[in-house]
Amino acid sequence: MIQSSSIIDEERVSEVKLTAEERSRYSRHLIMPEVTLEGQRRLKTSRVLCIGAGGLGSPAVLYLAAAGVGRLGLVDADRVELSNLQRQLLHGTTDVGRPKLESARDRIREINPNVEMHLHQGRFTSENAIEIAAPYDVVIDGSDNFPTRYLSSDVCVFARKPNIYGSVFRFDGQATVFAPHLGGPCYRCLFPEPPPAGTVPNCAEAGVLGVLPGVIGMLQAIEAIKLILGLGDSLLGRLLHFDALKMKFREFKLRRDPQCPVCGEEPTIREPIDYEQFCGSPEPVPEIPVAELKRKLEAGEALLLLDVREPYEYETARIDGAKLIPLGELPTRLSEISSDGDVVIHCHSGVRSAHAVRLLHQAGFQNVYNLTGGIDAWSEEIDPSVPRY
Ligand SMILES: [Zn+2]
Repeated sequence: MIQSSSIIDEERVSEVKLTAEERSRYSRHLIMPEVTLEGQRRLKTSRVLCIGAGGLGSPAVLYLAAAGVGRLGLVDADRVELSNLQRQLLHGTTDVGRPKLESARDRIREINPNVEMHLHQGRFTSENAIEIAAPYDVVIDGSDNFPTRYLSSDVCVFARKPNIYGSVFRFDGQATVFAPHLGGPCYRCLFPEPPPAGTVPNCAEAGVLGVLPGVIGMLQAIEAIKLILGLGDSLLGRLLHFDALKMKFREFKLRRDPQCPVCGEEPTIREPIDYEQFCGSPEPVPEIPVAELKRKLEAGEALLLLDVREPYEYETARIDGAKLIPLGELPTRLSEISSDGDVVIHCHSGVRSAHAVRLLHQAGFQNVYNLTGGIDAWSEEIDPSVPRY
């Protein structure tokens, strides 16, 4: 599927001029016959919204800013953590603890002070999404969770804006352009239903190769620029899959679903829904807070403290007395778990250990608890000598 006319109105382009500084800054664009002064003016008048200033958002907005996109909007609610720096190049070591939007603004200002930045501090939600997205020509989805992906896709369908999708998982990544108004599918055409809650781990749980979001985020930036300039064949109707281990790109054809509840012939969803509810939350499991664990340990209560992280994580940081059985080995090592006394399970932040609690419940164990916030909460609230990672 080819999309070869620019998504930017001619009228807006004609109102824009480049300064002498900009002509010099963008000279490698200006000499390209496919871009020229006109294309650069098109970039200057364009407005791109990026949801998330993390692994995908970092390369996407760094390059879009350098390329001369006139207005960049960023939505993010988080602060910079040390573990972000392995892949989120918008942020530096001295930014740890700052809101991501502040470090992103400083970095982008340094790359290209001509870019007008609009910072939307907070989460992208059903309540604010339509208003936030309204002034932009194209949306880059750099989010890492299903509720936000459905929301950003739906809002783009309602507002007839292209939604440039990207996702990463360990060594694999994928990207495409959702834009039913240009002939392609939307996210819901592909995935009418979200996967069962708790079955798909995120980067924090599964890990991601640091460079990978760089590749995918840059693909998203290239697609945005092509849509703005009206150049080439966009990823409309194609899912590009990248396998970093095999170093292979593969392509899958995507089709619009005429029955799609959002972009189909008879849409049933015409405004944002409750995406948290739609994507479901995993069944809650019994939990105990870290202070309660400390009390139980100090009182010498009979309990098994089970650590379901990976051995390298155990090497990095551990709670004294914890027994290590990585989550993947748990189903075959149930005989090592004593059924008298409480079993308290922990991982890094509490997601894997919640799976482990459900697994033990299914195997007939009782008095099994998830340690709220995992070893990370233990280091933060109880024992700072346990390293955080
Ligand atoms: Zn659709």
